[in-house]
Amino acid sequence: MIPYGQQDIQEDDIKAVIDVLRSDYLTQGPAVPKFEDCLKQYCDVEHAVAVNSATSALHVALLSMNVGQGDIVWTSPNTFVASSNAALYCGALIDFVDINPRTFNMCTDALARKLENAAITNQLPKVIIPVHLTGQPCDMKIIHELSQKYKFYVIEDASHAIGGSYSGKKIGNCAYSDITVFSFHPVKIVTTAEGGAALTNNHEFAMRLKLFRSHGITRDPKLMRQQIEGPWYYEQVELGYNYRMTDLQAALGISQMSRIDTFVRKRHIIAQRYNRELDKLPLTCPYQALESYSAYHLYVILLQLNEIKFLSHKKVFALLREKGIMVNLHYIPVHTQPYYQSMGFRWGDFPKAESYYSEAISLPIYPKLTNKEQTHIIKALNEILKK
Ligand SMILES: *Cc1c(COP(=O)(O)O)cnc(C)c1O
Repeated sequence: MIPYGQQDIQEDDIKAVIDVLRSDYLTQGPAVPKFEDCLKQYCDVEHAVAVNSATSALHVALLSMNVGQGDIVWTSPNTFVASSNAALYCGALIDFVDINPRTFNMCTDALARKLENAAITNQLPKVIIPVHLTGQPCDMKIIHELSQKYKFYVIEDASHAIGGSYSGKKIGNCAYSDITVFSFHPVKIVTTAEGGAALTNNHEFAMRLKLFRSHGITRDPKLMRQQIEGPWYYEQVELGYNYRMTDLQAALGISQMSRIDTFVRKRHIIAQRYNRELDKLPLTCPYQALESYSAYHLYVILLQLNEIKFLSHKKVFALLREKGIMVNLHYIPVHTQPYYQSMGFRWGDFPKAESYYSEAISLPIYPKLTNKEQTHIIKALNEILKK
């Protein structure tokens, strides 16, 4: 079976993890801050806070902004459930902004309209979480302008997008956002097995991210409220969590970061071949916006279903899987999940995300995908779609 995504682990990665196993610290040692330095340097950003997943990173990002009961958070319906669940963890209200059918990202026209209405009804969001779907950055300049006008915070869910850039700057640079979140799950661009990070140029947010990562406990006298009673003393000043990344994971991350540009370059080569060789088939290859350099976490095709009436989306899926190609679908629109339906969302609420869902297929793309495997995938698509 050819998966849709897979990690690339080399001997250096294995050695890095084993070295930590032989060292004094398996967690709370030197590897985590070193990994954070790696991320800061790569993204050219002031602060990086590593945690145990992107889901945790989103949660602490919202907490660092004091998001709680009564606050409103908006994200894209075309994302993994974690992007919106994080808002629910905080007790906030969640809503969605429909997507642009070309980029699959949050539509900035729809966002502008929704903000205009929300301003009238006094229901403006405190935070907006744009998701860089497939690794292609959202239109951050427009989102940033709107954030200035309507006074909301921006958290980029860049779980797909480390290694990509926007307008000449690395994603994670936070030039147009308050916080950027990465995921290091094995299918993503670089991996720490499980893991995530939150990046920011805001010192206050960085301090609070670290606080919420580790029980709300601080050893920083500046954050304490009472007298320091002795060298053992620490204070819990917030209700935080244990969202720490281990040194084993951080060591793997450091090792992986040394190959990130190679990973992304390979992904581009695979994408370009798909672009060239799928061109004549009844499907749409992914559009790339002008200012974007995608990390190509995913390569999503849209089937032109009116050209292939003898087939259905489901049938194409099944036929590809029969041929050993584990295609996937990113994503089932979040608002159509039973849990979200029980909150009052309905099919039809975000028609562009739903229409995308009825046509999209994620083809395999990852650094270790061989030329021969890609040939097999392209041939299979030709056989299935040409009648
Ligand atoms: C993978 C992913 C997440 C969650 O990442 P974890 O590290 O598994 O918690 C969140 N948002 C998006 C868009 C993702 O793809």
